[in-house]
Amino acid sequence: MNQLARCDLHCHSTESDGTLTPRQLVELARDLNLRSLSLTDHDTIAGVEEAKKAGEELGVRVLSGVEISVEYAGKTVHMLGYCFDAGAAKLQEELERLVRGRNERNVKIVQRLNELGLAVTLEEVEAEAGGKVVGRPHIARVLLRHGYVQTWEEAFDKYLARGAAAYFERLRFTPHDAVALIREAGGVAVLAHPKYVALHEGETLDDIVQSLVQAGLEGIECYYTEHTPEETAQYIELAKRYNLVITGGSDFHGDVKPEISLGSGTGALFIPDECADALVERARRHESKCG
Ligand SMILES: [Zn+2]
Ligand SMILES: [Zn+2]
Repeated sequence: MNQLARCDLHCHSTESDGTLTPRQLVELARDLNLRSLSLTDHDTIAGVEEAKKAGEELGVRVLSGVEISVEYAGKTVHMLGYCFDAGAAKLQEELERLVRGRNERNVKIVQRLNELGLAVTLEEVEAEAGGKVVGRPHIARVLLRHGYVQTWEEAFDKYLARGAAAYFERLRFTPHDAVALIREAGGVAVLAHPKYVALHEGETLDDIVQSLVQAGLEGIECYYTEHTPEETAQYIELAKRYNLVITGGSDFHGDVKPEISLGSGTGALFIPDECADALVERARRHESKCG
């Protein structure tokens, strides 16, 4: 076993908000001598097949992956899913339902704003988002640009916040929903960058991890570009306490975040390839359970 073998289990392609195609990411992984790679685009697995094919060709082990946005304690939390090959179609369907829910809400908000006499178009809002997932922040920016509001806060208070004039609910997933979804697809559910997990008042990271483990969580992203060595150690400790897989990734996005490099983050990141081994091993256990 090569002690220095490394991997990167968290990156984004042009299928979400990255600037490299899935194939280009695998090529870069090969050039950097990464043993394994997982493409974890936001709310889509559309690039996974291309990445896997490139991996077979180029000698990089590619694990299927996804990063799902969910809501917890009023904030966005990210959940990672890995090695879900067999159930990928159902997973993709559910993710599309999630994205569709968001898009349908944007249409409703813009319609209501028009009814209120504010000349805003969906095209403008989409242009503001620049190819990323379109949401209320982009609508707020368009309202600001038109001078319909003086501040960002005013845009939310008057029109976009819950209970305001142009607010609409949308389909939301909880972290527990995401865990269930990933597990149903035969995958391994992992809590992404715990440093950024939102908590309810008085709640600790340990509390939420415990509750997610009961729902089927099997891993924690311990190695991460923005984690300090102390935080990494703390998360590894937490993962061990619950017998969870330790994973890691750079969250590489290409040119939109040029300070982050694939495999090494801002320089100090090192993710042992055992992380990828452990994910594959967990996924295998699911299969044997299913007979
Ligand atoms: Zn994330
Ligand atoms: Zn990410």
